Amino acid sequence: MAHSSLFAMGAASTGSLLLSDNLNFWDGERVAPRAGATAEPVYEPATGRVLCQLTPCGSDEVDSAIKSARGAYAQWSKMAGMERARVMLEAARIIRERREKIAKLEVINNGKSITEALADIDGSCQCIEFYAGLASTMAGQHIQLPGGAFAYTRREPLGVCVGIGAWNYPFQIAVAKSAPALACGNAMVFKPSPMTPVTAVVLAEIYQEAGAPRGLFCVVQGGAQTGTLLCQHPDVAKVSFTGSVPTGKKVMETSARGVKPVTLELGGKSPLIIFNDCELDNAVKGALMANFLTQGQVCCNGTRVFVQRDIMTQFLEKVVSRTKAIAVGDPLLDRTRMGALISKPQLEKVLAYVKQAEEQGATVLCGGKPLVPADPKLKEGYFMSPCILDNCRDDMTCVKEEIFGPVMSVLPFDTEEEVLRRANDTTYGLASGVFTRDISRAHRVAEKLEAGTCYINNYNISSVELPFGGYKMSGFGRENGQVTIEYYSQLKTVVVEMGDVESLF
Ligand code: NAD
Repeated sequence: MAHSSLFAMGAASTGSLLLSDNLNFWDGERVAPRAGATAEPVYEPATGRVLCQLTPCGSDEVDSAIKSARGAYAQWSKMAGMERARVMLEAARIIRERREKIAKLEVINNGKSITEALADIDGSCQCIEFYAGLASTMAGQHIQLPGGAFAYTRREPLGVCVGIGAWNYPFQIAVAKSAPALACGNAMVFKPSPMTPVTAVVLAEIYQEAGAPRGLFCVVQGGAQTGTLLCQHPDVAKVSFTGSVPTGKKVMETSARGVKPVTLELGGKSPLIIFNDCELDNAVKGALMANFLTQGQVCCNGTRVFVQRDIMTQFLEKVVSRTKAIAVGDPLLDRTRMGALISKPQLEKVLAYVKQAEEQGATVLCGGKPLVPADPKLKEGYFMSPCILDNCRDDMTCVKEEIFGPVMSVLPFDTEEEVLRRANDTTYGLASGVFTRDISRAHRVAEKLEAGTCYINNYNISSVELPFGGYKMSGFGRENGQVTIEYYSQLKTVVVEMGDVESLF
């Protein structure tokens, strides 16, 4: 099915039609699901309507996709970096040309606001352009040895890499994994989350149209079983995974059996520390950005907001008033700032966390309730009002566990030493933040926070140039930034003798 017919289809604001069920892609085209397998409905979060049916790929289909990717790898890995860059830049150009259509599909499938989805698509273009720029810089070292002998290193691709994605940034995750992989000369088989299968296949079509060899970026659909088939496949050289900690552990275990390197981008429960000398309005805006993007379903969100006790009252007043003003509703409207959560079970889970927090002694200052927008076509959508929890303690479940919804837990603190100890008292370590006007304190705190990223006087700034990844159980390996080239390539050392061989035997 061509992209144009896909794009012609439904939207929450226009009345939904079913999207195509042909969501697999290999050998350069969409592949229909196999006959006889059980399909699952995919929902539109804003309306609760069925968007399409998803049939998980079985082992024959996984084999076909990997075989197709191997064929493309043979060709792509031999091309000069400049040639690969040309294809990638063309893909970025096509994405930019279709940004509104792709963003709309993302909104329909994911429920986030169109404003955010457009930013995701723009960020994805930059990501492809950034790695296209690095494709021709892959180089090794020359190392002089005694007696005129020398060695050189070659940075080589790995082969067929697997990407497995979460549902919160469907298109962006597919790009963040494929762009560095392809730049290094690898091929990729990507499996999106079964809840958001729609836009990865659009990306596959675009790479193809941009001139990539058939099979270079393949898409297989499915859940845990299909993911396991990918991780254990003998022809897969590497697995890059984005998702929760429990699944990350399984991915690592399965991949370990084949001694495959893995990149794990996992969950978080990140601290944001607000000192009394901060610029308060900026700190309030930072706390909102740290909690409510994509309906709070963001891995690096700063969901534990530590506020120095003497500014707590002012902070809460401002943060609650701004939170109450957030426009929740039809994600396809420009004025909407918060759309629908990904699924009904996710909505119920987040609401249950709020209820449990109250039972454990927290105070709901605003939100935390199901929300029914005025528009009748959204009445079955998975909406809730953004929530601020006060009177939280470190031992409460809402403070310890990743909620993955629009729920901010606010905690008072007195001293720097105390807050650092409490902020680091978690098994996660994805991100962190600090608001203060004291420059020495800002850097001191950044050094001591145990997390892969620390934002000073802002939060959730993401840009492809910045390495992103976890400490502790939030994972390892990095995405974005120049360093990611190292995670999609391997180093060969070539040793050259220029004289006679000196043998001990
Ligand atoms: P999830 O762990 O449930 O699923 C992630 C992916 O893994 C899906 O595609 C799923 O089908 C697949 N999968 C499930 N079982 C598998 C198995 N046994 N083997 C291989 N693959 C398997 O996560 P989710 O609910 O889709 O996403 C939310 C989680 O992702 C949150 O914890 C969030 O913090 C995390 N996340 C992390 C980042 C990051 O960059 N660190 C980014 C986005 C989301």
